[in-house]
Amino acid sequence: MKDGALASKSLLAMHARSAPREACGVIGIYLPNSDPSRPDAAMAAYHGLFALQHRGQESAGIAAGDGRTLRNFTHMGLVSQAFRKEDLDALRGHIAIGHTRYSTTGSSKLANAQPIVSKGPDVELALGHNGNIINAAELRDRLKAEWDITCTASTDSEPIAHLLSHAPGRTWGERSAYLMRMLKGAYSLVVATKDTLIAIRDPLGVRPMCLGRLYGGWAIASESAALDHMGAQFVREVEAGETIVIDRNGLTSIPSPVKTSRTAHCVFEHIYFARPDSILDGQLTYVSRQAMGRLLAQEHPAEADIVIPVPDSANTAAVGYAQALGIPYGYGLMKNRYVGRTFIEPDQRFRDLGVRNKFNTMPEVLSGKRVVVVDDSIVRGTTTPHIVALLRRAGAVEVHMRICAPPILHPCHFGVDMPTKGEFIANGRTIEQIREKIGADSLGYLSVAGLRQAVNLEVDSSRGFCEACFTGLYPMEVQLQLDKLHLEQPAAPAAE
Ligand code: SF4
Repeated sequence: MKDGALASKSLLAMHARSAPREACGVIGIYLPNSDPSRPDAAMAAYHGLFALQHRGQESAGIAAGDGRTLRNFTHMGLVSQAFRKEDLDALRGHIAIGHTRYSTTGSSKLANAQPIVSKGPDVELALGHNGNIINAAELRDRLKAEWDITCTASTDSEPIAHLLSHAPGRTWGERSAYLMRMLKGAYSLVVATKDTLIAIRDPLGVRPMCLGRLYGGWAIASESAALDHMGAQFVREVEAGETIVIDRNGLTSIPSPVKTSRTAHCVFEHIYFARPDSILDGQLTYVSRQAMGRLLAQEHPAEADIVIPVPDSANTAAVGYAQALGIPYGYGLMKNRYVGRTFIEPDQRFRDLGVRNKFNTMPEVLSGKRVVVVDDSIVRGTTTPHIVALLRRAGAVEVHMRICAPPILHPCHFGVDMPTKGEFIANGRTIEQIREKIGADSLGYLSVAGLRQAVNLEVDSSRGFCEACFTGLYPMEVQLQLDKLHLEQPAAPAAE
């Protein structure tokens, strides 16, 4: 391969991973079996998955139970591409779970798509997982040693499914407690058997999960916006460590069998991952993001003629920033929402093709203006200099970059795909050095204290957040150099 092509390929790859990626979205549905007028649970799950497409675009799947049989269907691609009508028609029954995947452990291939089906001595189940467990390799060894089970996929989710289907205990509460004592890390799980729906959230509550009512039955979703899209009514968030079991006897809530001093909900859900119309920690994400913008304006004001967002994730925060300083809000950057992954390598002449594919500027709005541009975060910082350059080329006389998150310095081990420590732009650089590298006239990050205030942490001191990617203070011990493909490497031969 020529050097130019290699450089261009890496540029695209860098753009493709310039923002942190979420792990997955999950849905669970239990509908009353007696009502012939309601749709099948799989159809409701399908609509719920559409609303969670932003959490993962690699594969999608639905498993359904009708009281007698459990059926499962998975496919690569977007929800709209993964299912044909006949696939959904075949998923009959009043119980369904759905999953949309972005890989944080294991590569993107059908064998790693979810739900994952596992058959134990007494039960067959399908499982969907959002999050990342950090002791998957250890659990795979245990499955082999205790039950002679060899995991065939390379995800951290497969051992969870096998452990639950083989867990000792007569009730789901007992099996879930066994599982939770084994797992280390982040997991929001939906599980379907032929006649029961189960939802489990890890004791730290790292990944979100909520409960709603639907057609007189129940719905579980990663985000409340998915409940809205399905026509379900939001009831509450699933508690950290809670197991919910729904069957013909109704809903049973089982509290955490594992005691923790505080929760560690992922604060990045508030900044970037969750939709602005989802409720997280009792507050609409839209409200949290506006507050981030407002507090960012207090911490790092700028004299400017216009405030614009890097669309779409910073739209709401930019409104907060503009309102706080009384500066007009506008759109100077437009996002091409339909840009997907491209496999065509660009020519060396198109140095910033990745950004050009994604964003266009409006010189009529920007020309001659001092511009504040608000973004949700800077990870590697590969896209940001191109955005600054695009704005200058469109006539901006000053570009002031404002970021709704503190500098990212540490990788995530709990379900968010981030580069290694050395690749973060903030690693080993002062704010002034980062400003210089991205080419902005000024740069300001929201502080950790400002972020806490924006997500309303003071209101309820029993809630805690994971802020590890900013502070390095992980809510549990982690192995710092774990690669997302570590489960694909062949196991070392056993010592003789
Ligand atoms: S390390 Fe960052 S992205 Fe990962 S769970 Fe914690 S706050 Fe969220």
